[in-house]
Amino acid sequence: MRQADIVIAGAGLAGSTAAAMLSRAGYDVLLVDPHTTYPPDFRCEKLDQSQIEILKKTGLDDAVLSVATPNLNLWVARFGHLVDKLDGAQCGIRYENLVNAIRAEVPADKFIAAKVTSVATSADRQSVTLSTGQEISARLIVLANGLNIGLRHKLGIERKIESPVHSISIGFDLKPTDKPAFDFSALTYYPEASTERMAYLTLFPIGNTTRANLFVYREMSDPWLSQFRDAPKQTMLDMIPNLQNLTGAFDVEGFVKIRPVDLYVSEGHRQPGVVLVGDAFATSCPAAGTGAGKALMDVERLCNLHIPQWLATPGMGTDKIAAFYDDPIKTAYDAASTKKAYTLKSFSIDTGLYWTAERWGKFVLHWLKGALRRPAPAKMIDAPALVPEQGTHPADAYTPARARHTV
Ligand SMILES: Cc1cc2nc3c(=O)[nH]c(=O)nc-3n(C[C@H](O)[C@H](O)[C@H](O)COP(=O)(O)OP(=O)(O)OC[C@H]3O[C@@H](n4cnc5c(N)ncnc54)[C@H](O)[C@@H]3O)c2cc1C
Repeated sequence: MRQADIVIAGAGLAGSTAAAMLSRAGYDVLLVDPHTTYPPDFRCEKLDQSQIEILKKTGLDDAVLSVATPNLNLWVARFGHLVDKLDGAQCGIRYENLVNAIRAEVPADKFIAAKVTSVATSADRQSVTLSTGQEISARLIVLANGLNIGLRHKLGIERKIESPVHSISIGFDLKPTDKPAFDFSALTYYPEASTERMAYLTLFPIGNTTRANLFVYREMSDPWLSQFRDAPKQTMLDMIPNLQNLTGAFDVEGFVKIRPVDLYVSEGHRQPGVVLVGDAFATSCPAAGTGAGKALMDVERLCNLHIPQWLATPGMGTDKIAAFYDDPIKTAYDAASTKKAYTLKSFSIDTGLYWTAERWGKFVLHWLKGALRRPAPAKMIDAPALVPEQGTHPADAYTPARARHTV
């Protein structure tokens, strides 16, 4: 049986980041995933400044940013009107490139191409069985296997779905047809009316391609989705007819990817010997743009703080594991992420007086800020407070609500 300090099941964003951090710190870590390289997948495709700040705390920012495309300027449109132009504080990156850039920081002999098929846990040592038949004994298992619930079920961990099909993400490429490039590098376009059941459309560069992410609130059975798949450009223009005032003529290129997301949390996860991170612990709404930050925050807290403390003394009981789930910075980030998911949905589609007033208030505020900035452009609004400020609780400094976010 192979021995290790830590075995990580799943080499997505969370698992790969954990493996890179822990191996750099000198731990004997093994990373297990069936895919030798992360395959093309429609997931998080851009990182905002708050996420980049967390990434810096993992020490992997250079590896990621060297393969990402920065947004040079960001236009913001509300109710069909351009209200602001900002210096871009985001970068675009295909999810597989993001994960594979981080995986490249994990020593090759620490990666095992296999599926974890079963786990046995205790307050001392854990054992993991792989699809190859190999067994590993470790002090700690990090479960970072995303949406795959098989292993969690084997441990008696349940998934509580709090909001089924909370939102639907649609990804595609866009190309201008009347000029070589769009006039902006990135554009965030909020709905022209709440009846559109849309959170926003975001256009941003990845390499030489303009990528589009559209987030909507609909049932999966809604015929609008197949209509969008068949005729994306026309369906989009029917929904937001003023879009071409800003983009000019365009075409949608390649495949349209449509992904629903349930919001769920884990239950029964406070167990000895195993800890859940990223989507394996809980999902977030892609429209709120906090999922990657949540996965990175989990891993940053786990690897910089908790694992070094846990391994310093014998045993891996529930009390040690609970310290991670109760970490104030993690719980504050998770809570803010959940709140943003629900607030954004109400803000986008609720027709009540309160939310209608909120939408118009935001429009006026953003327009005024944009107008004030116009004589001296190139400064961000709501400058992000992304590092702990003196005298404040560190959890405050990381909440997505406090970071300037383009949504
Ligand atoms: C359509 C979509 C759009 C999104 N957009 C955004 C966005 O704009 N901004 C944002 O912040 N977030 C976004 N998110 C959320 C974000 O992408 C996720 O929260 C994040 O990628 C989760 O990473 P993870 O490592 O937990 O899971 P994953 O990346 O899914 O990794 C799980 C890994 O586990 C492996 N695995 C599974 N089972 C096993 C097993 N038995 N043994 C070994 N390995 C296993 C898989 O092969 C995979 O590599 C989006 C999500 C979706 C679905």
